[in-house]
Amino acid sequence: MEKIKIFAPATVANVSCGFDAMAFALENLGDEMLFTKNTSGKVSISKIKGANLPTEIEKNVAGFVADVMLKDSNADFGVNIEIKKKYKPGSGLGSSAASSAGAAYAINELLGRPYTKLQLTKFSMLGEEVACGSQIADNVAGVIYGGFVLIRNYDPLDIISIPTPDDLYVSVLHPQIELRTEEGRAILPKEIPLSLAVSQWSNVGGLISGLHTSDYQLIGRAVEDHIIEPVRKKMIPHFDTVKKNALAAGALAVGISGSGPSIFALSKGELQARSVAESFKNTYNNKEINYTTYVSRIGITGVRKI
Ligand code: ADP
Repeated sequence: MEKIKIFAPATVANVSCGFDAMAFALENLGDEMLFTKNTSGKVSISKIKGANLPTEIEKNVAGFVADVMLKDSNADFGVNIEIKKKYKPGSGLGSSAASSAGAAYAINELLGRPYTKLQLTKFSMLGEEVACGSQIADNVAGVIYGGFVLIRNYDPLDIISIPTPDDLYVSVLHPQIELRTEEGRAILPKEIPLSLAVSQWSNVGGLISGLHTSDYQLIGRAVEDHIIEPVRKKMIPHFDTVKKNALAAGALAVGISGSGPSIFALSKGELQARSVAESFKNTYNNKEINYTTYVSRIGITGVRKI
C-alpha cells in the first residue's frame, strides 16, 4: 500500500459520570487525513486545511505519532501527511485525538498492521502529551476502538469496548469560545467527599449496564456528574439553560464534552436528537456567541479507511 486516506472521528470524552475513564466516537463528524509513503525516510506535513495548526512534526500530533511509529518499526520509508480538519481544535471533541489516533491507524496500515489496537492507543497517547501535556487515553481510545470505551486502568493500560445501543444519538453544541484542556483541568478539585465518589461510581455502573442492555432510560439516569460539571460549567456560557431546555426537548441526558466548551446530549433516535439540536440553537440564538451544532449516531467503527 503506497497511500491511505482515512476518516478519524470526533469523540466525546468523560460522558459525565465517566470522568477520565470513558469516551465515545461520533459516526459522521471527524477529520480526513491522507498519508502517502515517500523515499526520504522522513515525516512531513504538506497541507492542513480547516485549522491553523503547526506543520512541524514535533508540534503537530499527527506528525509526532507518525515519526515515533516509523522509528519504532525501523520502517524503510517516510510519510507525507495532509490533514483536513472538519471541526475546530479546542472544542472538547478530541481534535488532537482524531489526528493522533488517525496517524497511528494509518501508519499501522502502511506498515502492514504490525501493531494491536492497544499499542496504537499507546502511540496515540504520545500525541495527546504533545497537545495537552499528559498521556490521556480516553479520546484516542474512542477513535481507535469506536463506540463506547472504558479506560479501566492506565498502568497497565486496560481498555474495554462497551456495546452501543443501535438507536443512540448525540447532539452537540459547540460555543465557539476556546478553552484549553489544561485550563479545564486546572480548576478541578484535588479531593472529593466520599459521598460524591459513591454517586459517581454508581452512575458509571448504571451507564455500563444501560449500554449493555440498550436501556435508554437507565443511560439517561446514569449520565450525571456531581463532581466535575458543577465546577466546569462556570466556564461555559448559559450551560444551565442549555441543559434545562435540552432535557425539556426530550434529551436522555446532557453534559460537558471532554473539558468543554462543547455540550453533548444523548437521545434515542435521530429525530429526537435533531429536536434537541434545535433547542440548542434556540437557546444560543441572540446570545452573541458564535456556535455550531452537530447531530450524529454513536460511531461503532471509529477510525477507518475511506
Ligand atoms: P480538543 O478539545 O479538540 O480535544 P485539545 O485541547 O485536546 O483539543 O487539543 C488541541 C491542541 O492540540 C491545540 O493546541 C492544537 O494546536 C494542538 N494540536 C497539535 N497538532 C494538532 C492536530 N493535528 N490536530 C489538532 N490539534 C493539534
